[in-house]
Amino acid sequence: MSIKDNIQKILPKINKDVTLIAVSKTRSVEEMEIAYREGLRDFGENKVQELVNKSEEFHKDVRWHLIGHLQTNKVKYIVGKVHLIQSLDSEKLLHEIEKRYSQKNLIANVLIEVNIGKEESKSGIDLVDLDSLLEKCETCKNVRVKGLMCIIPKGSDKENRAYFKKMKIIFENLKTKKFNNVSMDILSMGMSGDYELALEEGSNMVRIGQGIFGPRNYEREVK
Ligand SMILES: *Cc1c(COP(=O)(O)O)cnc(C)c1O
Repeated sequence: MSIKDNIQKILPKINKDVTLIAVSKTRSVEEMEIAYREGLRDFGENKVQELVNKSEEFHKDVRWHLIGHLQTNKVKYIVGKVHLIQSLDSEKLLHEIEKRYSQKNLIANVLIEVNIGKEESKSGIDLVDLDSLLEKCETCKNVRVKGLMCIIPKGSDKENRAYFKKMKIIFENLKTKKFNNVSMDILSMGMSGDYELALEEGSNMVRIGQGIFGPRNYEREVK
């Protein structure tokens, strides 16, 4: 299947109020161009350098999403270049984002990444620390929290659904609490293999890479 066919197959499954992010990590701008021509404007990258390079080369009306783990020492490179940082997962990172964005007098829109599967190897904040991070966000002047993001552990449909349900409950619960600088608008969950389930459970932002662009080379090498 071509990139064009893949997108045309996915789009009808996605409501208008859901944002489809084309995860373009490791892909060439030529491949991305095909997705762009199909109307996609939200692109996700997991590495700062790749995002910055592509944002300079690619169409200017694209909304860039940083979806990978963000190291504090790299924040300075993305200020003003990303639409949404989806991977806020520590106070240290929050303070760095606040510092760098205030220097440029810009607002950073962020999602808090939750380590919903409690996986040691994964980034994301532990659930128990979520409220305290939100309280820290309340004191920021240049950071706005727009919602939550998660990457769930590999598992069966049943297990996946349970994680998505859990995230949705947390998301809705936070909506009822009023934190300054925090609006629970975006629930970013669901990737190529599980986005339909995620949508059924209330996701409104899905991040799809291989489902659009085909298998990633480096993953084939690892296997
Ligand atoms: C790579 C990646 C995706 C997309 O994964 P696919 O399986 O290619 O759809 C989504 N979210 C994050 C955070 C990623 O790093």
